[in-house]
Amino acid sequence: MSNKTKIISKNIPICPDCKEPLDVTAVSLEVGDVVECRVCGTEVEVVSLNPVKLKIIEEEK
Ligand SMILES: [Zn+2]
Repeated sequence: MSNKTKIISKNIPICPDCKEPLDVTAVSLEVGDVVECRVCGTEVEVVSLNPVKLKIIEEEK
């Protein structure tokens, strides 16, 4: 067994709604950042970075 395991945990945040990867890998995330999913439009807030945890922001009606 070598140490070359697949690197799948690249800290790429995934939309908690549609499970698509969020297009935010080019920017450095910070806790409190709000990211909008370009697939479903859901806005999520970064609540943790390592691992990345996201919270769906629900608009009050
Ligand atoms: Zn989405």
